[in-house]
Amino acid sequence: MDLNEINTKLESIAYNKSLPFCYSCYKVARTGTCKSCHSDDLMRLLPDSGCEYGVDWIVKELIEENLEFVDSDEIFEQMIEECYEETTQVGFMKLSTVQVMKDQDPICWDIAKGEYIDGLVEDEQLVTFDNGSSYYWIHDIESYIDENLELEVA
Ligand SMILES: [Zn+2]
Repeated sequence: MDLNEINTKLESIAYNKSLPFCYSCYKVARTGTCKSCHSDDLMRLLPDSGCEYGVDWIVKELIEENLEFVDSDEIFEQMIEECYEETTQVGFMKLSTVQVMKDQDPICWDIAKGEYIDGLVEDEQLVTFDNGSSYYWIHDIESYIDENLELEVA
């Protein structure tokens, strides 16, 4: 799945999980037109959550509630430990490579971490829906899509 397909599918899941809602009359308008005021300028209602125009906010909520975000510190540390040794000999001490690197040059560490995460986004392994405040594995999102689109067909 490419990002466009992912977005389209997430949007259709969001439509399926929400209902058209007339805010002026404050009632659900299942047909897409409000029976009371005949408006078709409708919000989407997500039961237990609220109502708002569009489905972007629903997509965000579904993802936040159903998927675990990626701990970018953790995956960067794992990558470093796989690339280098887990411990590094400094004099007579065997120290954690990650800890030594962080302690010695925290700025360089953060820059490298940012570049690593950006690289994963470019490779379409990670995706963010909030400009980089949180990241998700694309394969997690794909499984969520598969599970939730299937349910609606069945
Ligand atoms: Zn209405």
